[in-house]
Amino acid sequence: MADCIFCKIAKGEIKGTIVHEDDDMIAFKDIQPQAPVHILIIPKRHISGLTTIEKGDELLVGKIVALAKSLAHRFSFSECGFRLVANSGPDAGQAVDHLHFHLLGGRKFTWPPG
Ligand code: 5GP
Ligand code: ZN
Repeated sequence: MADCIFCKIAKGEIKGTIVHEDDDMIAFKDIQPQAPVHILIIPKRHISGLTTIEKGDELLVGKIVALAKSLAHRFSFSECGFRLVANSGPDAGQAVDHLHFHLLGGRKFTWPPG
């Protein structure tokens, strides 16, 4: 997707503070952090969001969740707690139409989120 900001970050066309990269996905710091650690985990391939995940993407999504687990350990909030969030559509406030999971840690979170 030529005009997708997260595709551009994945391709290195726009700078991001990258904390992990492999063949399938990239993780980088959110530009407007909502917690002491706020990382976005995205597939490199453009998928517009949760509603356009297709059969065959299960392994990719599983890899993203497993990466969240290892980043939580690396950033030292695995034990005390963290949140993994994917907003989908306007009611949830999805602003970027490229599948992304927010990994938030380093503070307490309320529930329900509001
Ligand atoms: P959403 O609201 O779609 O779930 O989350 C989009 C997130 O992307 C927001 O938390 C926002 O701060 C972040 N974001 C938007 N543009 C950029 C950017 O250019 N660089 C980075 N690192 N994060 C961005
Ligand atoms: Zn994209």
